[in-house]
Amino acid sequence: MADRRRPMRPVAPLPSADLPLVAIVGRPNVGKSTLFNRLVGRRQALVADTPGVTRDRKEGVALLRGRSIRLVDTAGLEEAAPESLFGRMRASSESAVHEAALVLFCIDARAGITPSDEHFAAWVRKQGRPVLLVANKAEGRAGAASAMEAYSLGLGEPVAVSAEHGEGLSDLMGEIVEHLPPEPEEDFPEEDDAFDDEIVEGDPEEERIPERPVGPVRIAIIGRPNAGKSTLLNALLGEERMITGPEPGLTRDSVAVTLHDEGDVFEVVDTAGLRRKARIDEALEKMSVSASIEALKMAEVAVLVLDATLGVHEQDLQIARLIEREGRACVLALNKWDAVEDRTATRKAILDRLSISLAQMRGVPVVTFSALTGASVHRLLPAVREACAVWNARVPTGELNRWFEAALERHAPPLVDGRRLKLRYMTQVKSRPPTFVIFGTRAEQMPEDYKRYLVNGLRETFNLPGVPIRLQTRGTK
Ligand code: GDP
Ligand code: GDP
Repeated sequence: MADRRRPMRPVAPLPSADLPLVAIVGRPNVGKSTLFNRLVGRRQALVADTPGVTRDRKEGVALLRGRSIRLVDTAGLEEAAPESLFGRMRASSESAVHEAALVLFCIDARAGITPSDEHFAAWVRKQGRPVLLVANKAEGRAGAASAMEAYSLGLGEPVAVSAEHGEGLSDLMGEIVEHLPPEPEEDFPEEDDAFDDEIVEGDPEEERIPERPVGPVRIAIIGRPNAGKSTLLNALLGEERMITGPEPGLTRDSVAVTLHDEGDVFEVVDTAGLRRKARIDEALEKMSVSASIEALKMAEVAVLVLDATLGVHEQDLQIARLIEREGRACVLALNKWDAVEDRTATRKAILDRLSISLAQMRGVPVVTFSALTGASVHRLLPAVREACAVWNARVPTGELNRWFEAALERHAPPLVDGRRLKLRYMTQVKSRPPTFVIFGTRAEQMPEDYKRYLVNGLRETFNLPGVPIRLQTRGTK
């Protein structure tokens, strides 16, 4: 059969046939095409037809965190075969799944798990390819909670995303890259058994905490216009430097500035181009928020820069909330310290305001410096390194449950509709940021203030300052 793949514009130096194949599968309407378009982005132009089993399939090259993949969308192929829904799903996905280095199994978190999801998941599991479970349409807090239901598919921990609203995609990209086989160094293909421990079968509740990928710590320097972000970046670089903005359409993997500090490598996500645009934009306030979102999606640690002479403004809080929402570690940078008169009072006023408005900012590491004179700027990267370590922290399940038991005793779970919640155990399912799941009868009915009590306890006991802690609940029968 003739190969009809025709890249229209070369992006990756590698011929796309050598790239790892990632297949998006799932029942119709879960959002496969939407996800495909999100991940391939502007490179959709590269989509070319490839002969599939039943019909041509949609394929594109996506660049995720510096790695290129071939992404295949199996959507729309279901109609091609005249059998049952399951038969059609299977027929359309079979060849893609067999060739795939990684299968993205998509479900609709809003619809919940349907019998055809279960049936299809069982089949996919049997194919023996690494699978990453994607719970789509999980926008907002409610969505993330309902995504947890997908655990029951036995495909491991679901990654909650909203393809349509662009939420959770950065995490998903990270997970995809972590699940890929290592990049080939020599000219022989990887063995399939490289995947062995990635295939999750049996107990879906078992821990699967990704290791921290090696590589630079990615930093986003964000804050309101004039807080001193560019000055800070220049101070870190130690020289004035013209910073070029990201290429249009490449913002997700945009240019980064690399810094070296005591043997560690940091990469500062560069949103200078976006900021420049903000300066000429009328909706300046709005733009600086959207530039922050872009930067946050690419980063692990957010450096929130405040002009300490001005105190905390509503827009600073808004940006801090974004950091929490995106689940990033945070270092608070109080800049223009040279121009602050009463340093003790200023520091206290800022921290009080932040911790009142944002519980998750409690204990956030604070660095004071002057980007302009360079004084104390050297304290920033060590603080970033530490915040990143906390973000990656893993709490052993035994220790966690000993603490959990004591916490339940100190403060019994509340009555909900006259019945006490029976909370059984908890486990850390993820780091980056630390994410915990509590299992128990009607655990999902846990009131917010009890969750807050547990989150605060976790933060203090296991020393997790300055990172958003995610606490999820899962009812068991
Ligand atoms: P496919 O058949 O699996 O390829 O699904 P599509 O990508 O065509 O999406 C099906 C429907 O779900 C469309 O109406 C999308 O707009 C919608 N959709 C996709 N992603 C999301 C999402 O993240 N949230 C919500 N609420 N709707 C979504
Ligand atoms: P950005 O919009 O956040 O990138 O802010 P800039 O880096 O462009 O800085 C805005 C203004 O604040 C400039 O006039 C800087 O010279 C000034 N500035 C930045 N850092 C400091 C500092 O540490 N101390 C003082 N006094 N001024 C600063």
